[in-house]
Amino acid sequence: MTNMSQVYLNGEFLPPDQARVSVFDRGFIFGDGIYEVIPVFGGRLFRLPQHLARLEASLAAIRLHNPHTAQEWSGIFTRLLAQEPRADRDTETGTGDHSIYLQVTRGVAARDHAFPQNVTPTVFAYAQPLKYSPPEQLAQGVAAVTTEDIRWSRCDIKSIALLANALLRQQAIEQGAAEAILVRDGVVTEGAASNIFIVKKNRLLTAPKGTYILPGITRDLVVEIAGANDIACDELPVSIEALHAADEVWMTSSTKEILPITRIDGHPVGKGTPGPMHARLFALYKEYKQAFIRGKVD
Ligand code: PLP
Repeated sequence: MTNMSQVYLNGEFLPPDQARVSVFDRGFIFGDGIYEVIPVFGGRLFRLPQHLARLEASLAAIRLHNPHTAQEWSGIFTRLLAQEPRADRDTETGTGDHSIYLQVTRGVAARDHAFPQNVTPTVFAYAQPLKYSPPEQLAQGVAAVTTEDIRWSRCDIKSIALLANALLRQQAIEQGAAEAILVRDGVVTEGAASNIFIVKKNRLLTAPKGTYILPGITRDLVVEIAGANDIACDELPVSIEALHAADEVWMTSSTKEILPITRIDGHPVGKGTPGPMHARLFALYKEYKQAFIRGKVD
């Protein structure tokens, strides 16, 4: 951690070991805050307006005022990236790609569940190199397990309170899997830190937006790319039976991109290898990403 470049905290850019937050910060005491993770490809913030819109929606949902305008956020991210080595590199291998993590908490106050009055939110952000999935995971896919979705019923809020997600992901890891696929009342919601797509007879299917899933920016992009390329894509409830009978299953997130899941609960998905629809969608996604890096799309 200490060799990380400077982080942003409440208006200052500091080495991480000099950045200090009060033990009475409501983020620390209650998990009372919101976060975002924004990928940076070839030095450009990918889908920034969408990430900032989701941030705004999450802050509004917990009744916290957005402390910065879009322009101010951009300024913070740009300065964080400027100190990163090779943040502006455009390479096929991903070298030089980064992610921005940001969080806003309700600030520092004496411990009381009720909101404090006139408290300044705590704002923290940093940039770090983006760790891509190892090539063998893309080539072979990863394993997942299904688990009961034990989270609360406002999963659309990108809350920093991630205890349930951490427990579920850890449970998956301990079962030799990379992700937990969460199931609520027999319906697949999403992954512990990803959205889930299934493919059946060349049609994509993913959970509809609502309070039981995070509206993933990568999910939306996959839906958009499918739409633009005449690939059928339904946003409808995915039953556990449909998951188990799928030809292909993928997880999507800003850092995992579109990763095939080829084993679920110890059983192969389809043929047990990444499928042709993944190859097609991922190629289209990479094309889009390259166009973005070259400034051809926003
Ligand atoms: N769902 C959950 C619970 C997540 O934590 C994440 C990302 O971390 C996602 C979905 C994917 O969202 P995005 O594509 O915006 O990264």
